[in-house]
Amino acid sequence: MFKKKKGLILSLTVASSILLATGCGGTEKSSTDSGKGKDGDLPAVGATIYKFDDNFMSYVRRAMETAADGKVNLMLNDSQNDQAKQVEQVDTLIAKGAKSLAINLVDPKAAQTIIDKAKVKDIPVIFFNKEPDASVLAGYEKAYYVGTTSSESGVIQGELIAKAWEANKAKWDKNGDGKIQYVLLKGEPGHPDAEARTKFVIDTVKEKGIEVDELALDTGMWDAMKATEKMDAWIAKYNEDIEFVIANNDGMALGAIASLEKAGYFSGDKFMPVVGVDAIPEALEMIEKGKMVGTVLNDAKNQGAATVQLAANAANGKDVLEGTEWKLDDKKAVRVPYVEITKDNIQVGKDAYK
Ligand code: BGC
Ligand code: CA
Repeated sequence: MFKKKKGLILSLTVASSILLATGCGGTEKSSTDSGKGKDGDLPAVGATIYKFDDNFMSYVRRAMETAADGKVNLMLNDSQNDQAKQVEQVDTLIAKGAKSLAINLVDPKAAQTIIDKAKVKDIPVIFFNKEPDASVLAGYEKAYYVGTTSSESGVIQGELIAKAWEANKAKWDKNGDGKIQYVLLKGEPGHPDAEARTKFVIDTVKEKGIEVDELALDTGMWDAMKATEKMDAWIAKYNEDIEFVIANNDGMALGAIASLEKAGYFSGDKFMPVVGVDAIPEALEMIEKGKMVGTVLNDAKNQGAATVQLAANAANGKDVLEGTEWKLDDKKAVRVPYVEITKDNIQVGKDAYK
């Protein structure tokens, strides 16, 4: 997990110099490197995103930047999906005088490594989006988590599927056996959201009394392009046998839709029910066009804002919740609720991503 992918180094270096040259990226965004400048007199918060190239995280990032504006000097790093790189970034952030850390782990199992570094300097750590093990969080008084209750998204997605199926099974149950023949695009294995969504969505559908047949389940790593490839292969193998596409996130749902469109779906009466999680604007568009049955709002705006609010309080030596509406549960976590989104309440999704 901590090994650098050697083969990638050259291409990454080339890619990042192109990004730097065009002003589109780099690995850190902050007022200045020394921490002085526009926000330089504000308390410094050192932050990492597991990779900037993640659709959902780009919205969380934007919310963090908005919440930080004028309040803290947010030193934001792209960990480029490399845990070793992230650990180095944390060292640098601490050396630059970060008063608190906001960490979106690459590997959820690396929380202890980060805590060990922060603890030495008595720096509070707010983990977000990838939930560390409860025991690790409990082991450091100044460690917190901002995210969701992962299982809730699976339950809501399962309820959504069950309702839609009951209303449409005359058409959607293509082989007429009463069961849902589904394929499932899973997020990154080991990611608490991916594991919980995959389990709870199917458990919930079954609890609603609907029988299911799993035709295929594989990871699309949260990624649209990988999901398109998987879906291409599944359509080639199962074609008309597939009755439902369940995706752990909208990025992969969109990737599946691209594949389905190539295969002639969503024109004439060739249809496939597809569901996701996140409610990113591109998915809301698909719901409006009738190409997606629904999704589950994963509130990027509030998760990003809460992360910075807690980190800012921590950087100022205050109680992390001071002046906020958030509450901590018994695991020292702020959990932003998920919401079912269909055509009927699409505005709720739109408002959340404005
Ligand atoms: C989101 C995914 C995202 C992942 C990143 C999940 O909560 O639903 O879209 O890729 O977090 O860690
Ligand atoms: Ca069937």
